[in-house]
Amino acid sequence: MPLAKSLRPPVPPPGVVRFEEILSCLSEHGRAVDPGFLRSVYDFSSEMHKDQTRRSGEPYMTHPLNVAWLLADLKFDQTCVAVGLLHDVLEDTLTDREVLEKEFGAEVTELVDGVTKIGRHEYVRRDEAQAETFRKMILASAKDIRVIVVKLADRLHNMETLEHMPAESRRRISRETLEIYAPIAHRLGMARVKGDLEDLAFFHLYPHQFAELYSKIAEKMKVGQAATDRIRERLAKSLETAGIDAEISFRVKRYYSIYEKLRRQGIDISQLYDFLAFRIVTGSLKDTYAALGIVHQNWRPIPGRFKDYIAMPKPNLYQSLHTTTVGDQGQPFEVQIRTRDMDLVAEEGIAAHWRYKEGKAEPLASDPNIVWLRQLLEWQKEVQDPRTFLTTLKVDLYPDEVYAFTPKGEVFSFPRGATPLDFAYRVHTDLGHHCAGSRVNGKLVPLRTPLQNGDMVEVLTNSSRTPSRDWLNLVVTSRAKSKIRQWLNTQQKQRAMEIGRRLFDKELRKYGLSLRKVTDSSDFAVYLQSEGLSKLEDLYSRIGFGKTESRHVLERVVGQEKLSETPEKPGRLRQAVNTAVNKILPFGGATGPITVKGHGDLLAYLAKCCNPLPGEEIVGYITRGRGVSVHRVDCPNVQNLLYNPEREIEVRWDQQKNDVYQVSLLIEVEDQQGMLARLTDAITRTGSNINSMEADTHETGRASISIVCQLRDRKHLDKLLKEVRAIAGVLRVNRRTSGGVGTHLEALS
Ligand code: MN
Repeated sequence: MPLAKSLRPPVPPPGVVRFEEILSCLSEHGRAVDPGFLRSVYDFSSEMHKDQTRRSGEPYMTHPLNVAWLLADLKFDQTCVAVGLLHDVLEDTLTDREVLEKEFGAEVTELVDGVTKIGRHEYVRRDEAQAETFRKMILASAKDIRVIVVKLADRLHNMETLEHMPAESRRRISRETLEIYAPIAHRLGMARVKGDLEDLAFFHLYPHQFAELYSKIAEKMKVGQAATDRIRERLAKSLETAGIDAEISFRVKRYYSIYEKLRRQGIDISQLYDFLAFRIVTGSLKDTYAALGIVHQNWRPIPGRFKDYIAMPKPNLYQSLHTTTVGDQGQPFEVQIRTRDMDLVAEEGIAAHWRYKEGKAEPLASDPNIVWLRQLLEWQKEVQDPRTFLTTLKVDLYPDEVYAFTPKGEVFSFPRGATPLDFAYRVHTDLGHHCAGSRVNGKLVPLRTPLQNGDMVEVLTNSSRTPSRDWLNLVVTSRAKSKIRQWLNTQQKQRAMEIGRRLFDKELRKYGLSLRKVTDSSDFAVYLQSEGLSKLEDLYSRIGFGKTESRHVLERVVGQEKLSETPEKPGRLRQAVNTAVNKILPFGGATGPITVKGHGDLLAYLAKCCNPLPGEEIVGYITRGRGVSVHRVDCPNVQNLLYNPEREIEVRWDQQKNDVYQVSLLIEVEDQQGMLARLTDAITRTGSNINSMEADTHETGRASISIVCQLRDRKHLDKLLKEVRAIAGVLRVNRRTSGGVGTHLEALS
């Protein structure tokens, strides 16, 4: 089917635009033109594209020429036109930025580069949220609004020549046009461009529906022609009589917008009446309302269809009065009434602004066009100084957002500062939980790296990798934060339950009670209820978190008297009891010791007093409300604490390959030159990192050096001690243990 003629933008006819036509178009619109400059741009572009052809078989240069012409026709300025001529040289020819900059300067180069970059992203997934993100991404990627404008002209000409593309590309490009580019044109108020883009996309995407609608409307037009002429005549006469100076025009609404309306309202073309619209353009604001009165005097308005977009402009600052009335033959028609200025804005949108900009060095802040643009860009909050904005035309439409892609081309938006870890959680919770690293634009980067607009992010996972508390510092999105917290809480709760269960069981053994007997008793149920607990696990978790003591539970359930009847067995043979407990534990699940990793685990933490290392014998002490503190068996503090044997719990190392532990050493040396260097050298040689180092010299000619360093385990420590002791001048090395009870005062209270 041939492309319907009326679908074409009025000019140019498909074919070759000559360079001279662009020049005259610019001057026709009162644009400043430097023919020498534009000529050199044109020659440069022609030279670069000279061996290329389009799919239609035409020389490639026909495309940039058409794009440039569209821009001139839309009343954009010479710079935009130059960018239109050059817009494909970076993408499709061997030209590089430096050459372009040398030839035509930084401004033009920046713009061409911007257009090239936008073209790189392809919209892949079809859903509303994704489309909106994509539109925002395109608007945000362009630091200069002219980039968007050129991109739209580029897209429009590609749509005009789309029939030369293979069917599959035709559909993809049309869909992208409909879902991404037409809404952007709409947002910029460019009604004409939007309408052209939509109708062309409609034609290629749904050819049958298009053809049907097209012929039906043509038919209706033929039948209704006489009636339409009568309405027009009567309208003109009434306005003239009332002394209102106005231009009347008449048109069929856009095909795609009619099609959308039919679909939205679920009606058939035969039921469609108001596909006709009259437009009255007046010289003054008060005439718009006067004209409205005249329309309503002549024809009966349909209630509920009158809209005053003059008093309440649309978000893209469209202003007009709309009303729908019923003609003599009963056919409804729409009338739009607006001033010339409003009409210009309605048709051209942002382009209308260009005309005002030129030749006005100091626009006033009250200039309606500045207000217009400001609102148009939903920019009220960010604009500090509208004058700066206007002179540079630089925009940052979404200053708080960045857009990043999956390798499959899906785009997500993030708050600025978001990292690959945020990205992982955005795509999928599991991807976040097991995130082990990331590649951005193909390069491995640390997880803390902030994402940039247009980054392509690949998340690397490892099933054994799980969140840690540090991750909370790597993310900025609330989604990632809450997912990490959720995970940590679940983990912690599970561990608390495990610990609580052991403690409770231990207490039971002490009095020779059986778990079943206690938990089956009605007193137990009453107890749970009175504490607001629904099941045994909740009780365990409370005990594990130190909020409830096992003994108190038994006192309440079994009764104090009964407990005193069975005096608690003294804490003999702790080990034996523990083993027995582990053997007899009547329920499934992990019954082994609590495993201890390095840091960050609130329920089992390494005591600061003795800083145990993997490979050393350790023992766990249950503090009140702070989980389990893990000490070396020979730590003097824990020896003191464990007069309370029921607070002891068996623990075991669970070391991951890369975990490191801090150990502090106190080294006594002869005060010699180069001693510090020799020490640090020895320590680094063993593969340990030094966290801090402090030296104190004494009058005796000796010095004490305290060092905090990172070690993997006991073996690593032994190796380090051996190296340090071998240094001449080293007198003594001690592992520092804070002997005081300070660390545990709280735990004891
Ligand atoms: Mn192009």
